[in-house]
Amino acid sequence: MWDIWGEKPHATIAQIAEAIKKCIAAEEVQAVAEPHIEYNYNAVESQILTRVHTVRERDKRIVMLKKEKFQDENNGKLYCEACSFDFASRYPRHGDGFMECHHIKPLSELRPGEETTLDDLALLCSNCHRMVHYRRPWLDMKELNQVLARADERL
Ligand SMILES: [Zn+2]
Ligand SMILES: [Zn+2]
Repeated sequence: MWDIWGEKPHATIAQIAEAIKKCIAAEEVQAVAEPHIEYNYNAVESQILTRVHTVRERDKRIVMLKKEKFQDENNGKLYCEACSFDFASRYPRHGDGFMECHHIKPLSELRPGEETTLDDLALLCSNCHRMVHYRRPWLDMKELNQVLARADERL
């Protein structure tokens, strides 16, 4: 080694060292840029059904009527039919009148042109509503109540 490199001026060795460092750095960049084959993406088709479901629940008039009927029957209060969460109590003024509305009947069971009645809807807080749709098959109201009851037993 000394025979080859010993007589080279210091500057040349420093240049070579720099070139090697650059090479290593470039290789590292290349390694990071390698395609990640494990990131293959498969679309989950059930998401589309969830979206259709959500859009159906946005029929503003029937949602408004559902809430008004519930308040008429519950001393003007509006709370989650499953866990009793009340947005107006937790978020004073800001949360007044807020509640999500869930379509109880699975879309797959609706006939073309079938109309939605107030009894087909359930008023749920955002947590309960998301939990209903979190796993397939979606929870029905009885199952949601059972889940909540299991949690209450642990308290
Ligand atoms: Zn709730
Ligand atoms: Zn829903």
